[in-house]
Amino acid sequence: MIRRILEIPDPGLREPCAPVAEITPEIARLAGDMFDTMHASAGLGLAAPQVGVYARLFVLELPPDDDDPLSGRRFVLINPEVDLTGARKEMVEGCLSLPGFRAMVKRAEGVTVAFTQLDGARVSLEARGLFAQAVQHEVDHLNGVLFIDHLKSLLDLERIPPEMLDWTEEAEAEAA
Ligand SMILES: [Zn+2]
Repeated sequence: MIRRILEIPDPGLREPCAPVAEITPEIARLAGDMFDTMHASAGLGLAAPQVGVYARLFVLELPPDDDDPLSGRRFVLINPEVDLTGARKEMVEGCLSLPGFRAMVKRAEGVTVAFTQLDGARVSLEARGLFAQAVQHEVDHLNGVLFIDHLKSLLDLERIPPEMLDWTEEAEAEAA
């Protein structure tokens, strides 16, 4: 089921999220709905607070890329804990809660992320590139932080050219 995505400046996007205490059928249904919602908007990632649920979980699914073994797979990350690795680098970034815009944001090149899966297993992944960037973006959402908070000025936002709004055409203009 597609849920409504909150958009900036909805105050719901600033709510801190509580840890998920138990993986209930409701949580599984929420994760399924979040994939449906994300796919409907051609996004790569979506955090629960973006659909008005203040729980520490997000979903990620990067478009298939032969160079990235984490791409093309569905991930549900519950109660994530992140360590940043590598250098900080400027990366182009967007957000489904601010459709049509993007900006350069400084992110770590890599992350180590521990999280609970829907099956209850606690796992840890090392990621670089787009996956690492998306993890940082989504964890920010769980803390009520938006990518525009990393900008010196909102004037640093730029409109995404309409032909780049579909990630199947151009993975660089991702909305997460
Ligand atoms: Zn976002």
